[in-house]
Amino acid sequence: MTRATESIDARVGRLHRGGVIDMHFDLPMDLYEKRDRQNVLATEFLPEFETGGMAIIGAAIYIEDKYLPERGTQVARDQIARLKIEAEQSKRCVVCLSSKDIQRALDSKKIGFLITMEGVEPLGDDLDLLPAFYEAGVREIGLTHARTNAAGHGGIFAASGSSPEGLTPFGRDLVRECERLGIIVDLAHINPTGFKEIVDLTSKPLIVSHTNSRKFYDVERNISDDQIKMIGERRGVIGINSVLVSPTQKETTLDRYVDHIEHVAHLIGIDCVGIGFDFFEFIYRQWPEEKKKWMAEKLTTPHFISDLTNHSHAKNLTRKLIARGFSDEDIEKILRGNWLRILKEIL
Ligand SMILES: [Zn+2]
Repeated sequence: MTRATESIDARVGRLHRGGVIDMHFDLPMDLYEKRDRQNVLATEFLPEFETGGMAIIGAAIYIEDKYLPERGTQVARDQIARLKIEAEQSKRCVVCLSSKDIQRALDSKKIGFLITMEGVEPLGDDLDLLPAFYEAGVREIGLTHARTNAAGHGGIFAASGSSPEGLTPFGRDLVRECERLGIIVDLAHINPTGFKEIVDLTSKPLIVSHTNSRKFYDVERNISDDQIKMIGERRGVIGINSVLVSPTQKETTLDRYVDHIEHVAHLIGIDCVGIGFDFFEFIYRQWPEEKKKWMAEKLTTPHFISDLTNHSHAKNLTRKLIARGFSDEDIEKILRGNWLRILKEIL
């Protein structure tokens, strides 16, 4: 069959054959909260990963306020342990520590996890814990979530008002150590001053694992055109987030998600855009009403794209990219190629 007569479904299947890379997923914290159960990964997540054709997933350690400050280090270690145990038990997933591991996962059609850290609360203010977490498998670190911690300040969910301060001396040391150890520095969530400081402190390609363009959702948690260009100058990659594509539910659509991809590609090229779905609906729906209220007051109300709420929907994105006229070559870059370039270069 020639390409011209290939059905859309066949084309989607072909484009997914090499696997999809999503650089941000809050998996370890959910596995940790369900630690009294067995095979959570295999029963609750694996079917969705397989339907979506996932290959590599950034599994983010995140410590909720209720564990801080005393239990941050321990809970992070336990989250990593749960991920490793569940991956092993599933027989279908592996934790990747190097570009070789990533290639091996791709070749063997296993799903590879890259352990990431969203906010360095697990380190407290102790730089010596960084090599310990590297040893435990962490290969990508973003200094902050929306909170302030010992390293710096997060960007808030408003158009202005984040701390004007940059990184602390501890934060600067951490960034330098990450580059030296071979840990990818992630600029997701950091406030605008901290963002610029990290750009100036580093020399390797930088990533923003999961974010959106302020053009469509103007909050300091997202990134401006100037920030997008800073990533482009370093040949980095920006992963497009699915939960902050628009301030309104009405405009939270797959088309708007693709608008974010197009905007980044327009500014810095198709080689610098990837996926950081940040699927969060599965956690949100488990929360009691008062916790949702707390989130709305403290951060924001998340809006979910109805046909892109979990990994089983990944092919809907590919179908939409086809409908919007993206070439096969460009779609493969978005789905995996661009992230693979970064992972091979740094890990
Ligand atoms: Zn996040």
